[in-house]
Amino acid sequence: MRGPALDELKQQIPLLNYLHAHDWQPTRQLSRGRLMGLCPLHCDHKPSFLVDPSKSLFYCYGCGRGGDVIRFVQDYHQVQFLQALTLLYQWRGLAPLVHEAAGFYRMLLHRHGEAVEYLHQRGVRSPELVEHMRIGYAHHGGLRSWLMQLGHPLQALRQSGLVTAVGYDAYIHRIVFPLESNLYGRSISPAAPTHRFLPGSKGGLYAWEQVRRHPEVILVEGLFDYAVLWQAGFYNVTCAMGNHLNGHQYRQLCDSRRTVYLAFDADPNGSGQQAAQSLAGRLQQRGVNVRKLSLPDGHDPNSFFVQGGTARQFQSLLEAAQP
Ligand SMILES: [Zn+2]
Repeated sequence: MRGPALDELKQQIPLLNYLHAHDWQPTRQLSRGRLMGLCPLHCDHKPSFLVDPSKSLFYCYGCGRGGDVIRFVQDYHQVQFLQALTLLYQWRGLAPLVHEAAGFYRMLLHRHGEAVEYLHQRGVRSPELVEHMRIGYAHHGGLRSWLMQLGHPLQALRQSGLVTAVGYDAYIHRIVFPLESNLYGRSISPAAPTHRFLPGSKGGLYAWEQVRRHPEVILVEGLFDYAVLWQAGFYNVTCAMGNHLNGHQYRQLCDSRRTVYLAFDADPNGSGQQAAQSLAGRLQQRGVNVRKLSLPDGHDPNSFFVQGGTARQFQSLLEAAQP
């Protein structure tokens, strides 16, 4: 790749946009529009991460890293230069689409009783939670024409996976949760496959920027587990969207000294507990403190709360958790 193409890519993806999309928020404004906030690249307790939006450059006074958006992607995802470029090209194509699709689905949520009903069944009641997770609903089509009206070519919609090869909306009758650069859809109809993601990586741990500063973190399998815990006041919860972590998620958990509580499903076939066991072993080798929760048989954190479990009872489970 030559210089002009690189410059064009960097122009199209301002560093600040990329940071915002990865949940970074400045904590204060400095002179000449520069911003200061917590560093996403190391375990930062007081803001040491400086961003100059006009130059699209960053520098961290804590870990000493600095550079442009490509350098940031290399450090953030721990990848080489060329892989960082690939990630940026993917993100450039996908991010605006995912963002707009998520907005469309959010508009639909409260227009469809079956969606709200389903959320209630899964214990999701607080409007703050719906807002915090930006929960939406994919009803029966409509996204394709909405996005095309906004000027996105059909070809791009197909490539993103939001629209199928034959031109239908890929998400139908699903509760939708926007992720970093993907979209998770949970079917509310038993006839369809339960889980759906767009092609490509599911990304890092859910809401990690808000969680990583906590010395104790609760890791769950599913976003509905995340939802009920957050609603019950456990703001140090994060989610891997499955019980198998990808490399990026794994490195996130290891990036500083912390205690990780694994609250995986206690499902009858034992797969959640097996996954917790093997993850615990790998994390402990890396010096992470791990505690495994024992939920009542057959439960996951979601069903625990849905069936009347309280924050205090869950707190007792955390306190009783074993290495
Ligand atoms: Zn740093």
